Amino acid sequence: MNMKKINSLLIICLIIWVNSITHIYADTNKDNKTHNILLINSYDIDNEWENQVKIGLKESIKDNLNFNIKKEYLDIRNNDNKNYIRDFEQFLNTKYRNNEFDMIITVDDEAFNLVRSNLFNENSIFYKKVIVFAGVNETINLTSQEKEYVTGFVDGKSKIELIKLITNLQPDVKNINVLLDNTNYSKDIKTKLQENGYFLDENINLNFIQGKYEEDIINRLKNMDENNSALLVCGVFKDKDSENYINPEELLNNIKDIKNVPIYTSREDYIGKGVVGGYVDMGREYGRALGKMVLKIYEDKSISQVPLISKLNSNYVVDYHKIYDYNINPVNLPKETIIINKKSYELLLPVGQKIAVIIIIILILISILYIIMMMLKHRKNNIKNRNLYQIAKDREQLKTDFIANMSHELRTPLNIIRSASTLLELKANNNEKVDNEYILDKAQRINQNSDRLIRLINNLIDITKFDSGFYEYKCKNENIVYVVEDIVFATVDYANEKNLEIIFDTDAEEIITNIDKEKIERVILNLLSNAIKFTNENGKIEVYIKHDEKFVYITIKDNGIGIPKEKVDHIFHRFYQVDSILSRKNEGSGIGLCIVDEIIKMHGGKVKIKSEENEGSTFEVRLDIADDNHFEKDEMEDKTDINIKDVVKVEMADI
Ligand code: ADP
Repeated sequence: MNMKKINSLLIICLIIWVNSITHIYADTNKDNKTHNILLINSYDIDNEWENQVKIGLKESIKDNLNFNIKKEYLDIRNNDNKNYIRDFEQFLNTKYRNNEFDMIITVDDEAFNLVRSNLFNENSIFYKKVIVFAGVNETINLTSQEKEYVTGFVDGKSKIELIKLITNLQPDVKNINVLLDNTNYSKDIKTKLQENGYFLDENINLNFIQGKYEEDIINRLKNMDENNSALLVCGVFKDKDSENYINPEELLNNIKDIKNVPIYTSREDYIGKGVVGGYVDMGREYGRALGKMVLKIYEDKSISQVPLISKLNSNYVVDYHKIYDYNINPVNLPKETIIINKKSYELLLPVGQKIAVIIIIILILISILYIIMMMLKHRKNNIKNRNLYQIAKDREQLKTDFIANMSHELRTPLNIIRSASTLLELKANNNEKVDNEYILDKAQRINQNSDRLIRLINNLIDITKFDSGFYEYKCKNENIVYVVEDIVFATVDYANEKNLEIIFDTDAEEIITNIDKEKIERVILNLLSNAIKFTNENGKIEVYIKHDEKFVYITIKDNGIGIPKEKVDHIFHRFYQVDSILSRKNEGSGIGLCIVDEIIKMHGGKVKIKSEENEGSTFEVRLDIADDNHFEKDEMEDKTDINIKDVVKVEMADI
């Protein structure tokens, strides 16, 4: 057996054990005897109220009593005549001749009357039995002898609550039409309403419309005046053709088809089916109370301690939707009214107040939304301001750094120039003999540092031109391979000075681009001079050109010191240098790459950088290939060559 099976077996055992324990516990509350009860309903199996009573009764006794309930239906509405009742008595006597009931429960008047009349009849199964009745509407006067056997609930003497409900909800009502059937229940209501007539406003008419068939009732309603009227349905009615009872919903709909008046009821079965509301005995509640009485009788083993209860609390019940259908002011609802069909979020308020509440809620929501939006806007502004502040601060810092940097950049070559010329001047003043080499060395220093100053000033002028939009460039078709190759060859000497290997390779001999040659030369030269500057001795610099249909890619790759990850993104920013002025090993202003970026952007191209600290850097310049291949070789090539040398000399002055 696997673990799964053992587990389920254990769970089943546990369930059985828990079940048996609860059973034992429950049984301790019950006596072991089974009590036989005969429940006689006055009406038929379809009577909803009587059915609800039965459900409530069973609910309240099932945990405390072993019982066996036999049910019978007198069906008085269909057979209201003496012969039938006598036959029914005989039927019960025959059927239950051998049954020993220890209690008879009757529901509604007719069943009680039948049992009561046989209480002292030795030949009846009801002879001196304990009788508990429910739903008896009449004022009954039990004899002292009867009181030894009989107890139960009688209905209240008044039905005025029904009228009170109607006049509360419809203060201007003038006619209340009461629909009654032919049962004792209906008769009782009629009598009580008539007896309580003095409670009524003298302007209110009570009209009783009594009948067995729906058709008759509807016909009489046709003449009813709709204005200031209300209907009170207290009976159930039959269809004339089929002799079947019309169900509550159908009856109410048929009434509504001909008259639009608020309908009220005294019967639970009409509640929620289209009536505004009513004052009703809730069958289930009634049954539960009845159950409690039954238990008390069994507990005391006598009924002497269990007096008649004259009135069970009925309930005002009102349908939420109908309140608004008929423009009823909910403020007028009697206290403790049960509201049905109301969702928990719905408000029981007069229409005006309801609209006001909705408007207030909407206004509150709008205000909350507005506040949230303002807060978000404020936050966004704060962030924006903080960012602007940070940018301004960074700019300020950059400016300060730039001034410090520039002072250094300007002063260093100037100092060198000045000291070299001072030395020469000193020698001349002292009439010292100086050899050629000495003069050449000083002149070279003066020239190199002048170049550095020229480069710096050129860069500054360019930047200013970019800013003011006056940077001029003239494009024409050029073979980019030559342009790059010339620059690479012009820098070889400088690379060799640092023992750097320079490799140049291309995937084509001729790739035509529409460029300003001088500007692109500056770009390549700047990238190359950086590569030479930031690559240690014996390093390697590779320059590759490759192309596809649309673009040419110029890659300048070194295995130098590289750039820390967090600084790569800033490298094209103006005046940005990876090392601060104090810790710098190489000279420079931090403008070069910014100019590179601007020039390439001007050409519609892109510069990309990949760099790893201590591994090296790779710059890739992407340019568009020219639309037409037309290209004229420059006749002044040699002259350009001389120019390049000068340009390279100036650019390399830092190294
Ligand atoms: P500079 O004129 O100071 O060289 P650039 O704008 O050309 O200014 O370069 C900015 C900074 O970027 C340099 O100071 C250097 O720190 C870094 N840098 C540029 N190229 C390289 C490279 N090939 N290897 C390492 N660092 C580089």
